[in-house]
Amino acid sequence: MAEPLDDTASPKQRFDTVLIANRGEIAARIQRACRELGLKTVAICSEADRQALYGKTAESFLCIGPANAAKSYLNQDAILLAARLTGAGAIHPGYGFLSESAAFSEAIEEAGLVFIGPETSSIATMGDKISAKRAMIAAGVPCVPGPDASLPDDPASIERIAQEIGYPVIIKAAGGGGGRGMRVVPEACSLHEAITLTREEARQAFGSPVLYMEKFLQHPRHIEIQVLCDTHGNAVWLGHRDCSMQRRHQKVVEEAPAPGISPDAIRPVGMACAEACRQIGYRGVGTFEFLYENGAFYFIEMNTRLQVEHPVTEMTSGIDIVHAQIRVAQGEPLDLLQNDVRCEGHSFECRINAEDPDSFLPSAGTIADLALPEGPGIRVDTHIHAGYRVSPYYDSLIAKLIVHAPIRAEAMAKMREALAATRVEGIATNLPLLRALFEDEAFVRGETDIHYLEQWLKQRR
Ligand code: ADP
Repeated sequence: MAEPLDDTASPKQRFDTVLIANRGEIAARIQRACRELGLKTVAICSEADRQALYGKTAESFLCIGPANAAKSYLNQDAILLAARLTGAGAIHPGYGFLSESAAFSEAIEEAGLVFIGPETSSIATMGDKISAKRAMIAAGVPCVPGPDASLPDDPASIERIAQEIGYPVIIKAAGGGGGRGMRVVPEACSLHEAITLTREEARQAFGSPVLYMEKFLQHPRHIEIQVLCDTHGNAVWLGHRDCSMQRRHQKVVEEAPAPGISPDAIRPVGMACAEACRQIGYRGVGTFEFLYENGAFYFIEMNTRLQVEHPVTEMTSGIDIVHAQIRVAQGEPLDLLQNDVRCEGHSFECRINAEDPDSFLPSAGTIADLALPEGPGIRVDTHIHAGYRVSPYYDSLIAKLIVHAPIRAEAMAKMREALAATRVEGIATNLPLLRALFEDEAFVRGETDIHYLEQWLKQRR
């Protein structure tokens, strides 16, 4: 069983106030978890988010800068100052913004506060895709074929590497993220041009020209494994998710478990992920992302933070991932072993975005009226309400609709009903698209890959 609370845990790990360095639905979600654990919260906002309801329920609510995220939600000094002024003992970064910044986590710890996330060194290792791949290979996690080293400058050596891997290959920036800094090379004749373009892009976007190359998989699914680790050497995996439904590398619908992948096939991959966490001394929650093709898994990257789609795993595992994340940050050991983890039923999440369902242009404005679904097995994570003004400055995600039922077909039916009962008036949303998707036969059968949604959208035009 789990060991007793470690009395040697440093006193700085004990905190009673958490500053939430984020906005929107995830700020509301984290605040709920903190309050349930008896913790006080500090909410921050930009000038565009003063209306946030989580600001009203927080013990302190501070405006830290203008709407421009670079001057507010990405402003480390302003966030640290807010923490100091309010006496917060810990900072939760949520997702996006500064959540995967090693410099931010380091500054927080240097200020004597707790960063609710992994160690700075883990963020740095996983933030560099080459060092991440190296760490995964060392831990026995299967990776995409290709060297775990940066590309040399010499054209002849690059050609040799591509030939050894076999075309098509993909060139990726070691420091890349957000689906940028990648280029597919179908055949040898376009190799050098692709390298030059990607190197320049990487230099400009990520401040580093370092590239690597791997096999380009043509019809994979996107499968990911959620892990949870404490500071006492315990690491468990909480099942897997399928996030293949993407548009421009942005996930639109997620589900757990991934359809058609047997527990026996996924177990060794999950165990290898947990082992990798023990080897690198990983702390908190994280996600290993894989491409899955012809029955094989290939690691592509690790996200060292809470993810948007964490609720589908909460629904199937019954574990509150944000509670667990905060407890671990307080130095507590996990209160469960791998054998205690049970994944039951099936869960879907739909991301409701404030965007035009045809052009995908962001849609700002005031929500005139709002109806959200409710009932057994239905959860809505959101920060919006009637009268809320959706601002044009940030991500268009306004709500996540999550359902859970004993089997996939029932979860699908529940999602159809939930989508039908959802009404957002005053702005455009992608609800019509989500409703149509849940009627699509291939998706209903679970026969999709990472290109499916884009092809489906093209056919609808
Ligand atoms: P990012 O950090 O920018 O999200 P990832 O490495 O996670 O980059 O890749 C993003 C997406 O790019 C994947 O979900 C997949 O759609 C595609 N991709 C990445 N690597 C490969 C590959 N080797 N073969 C095919 N598609 C890939």
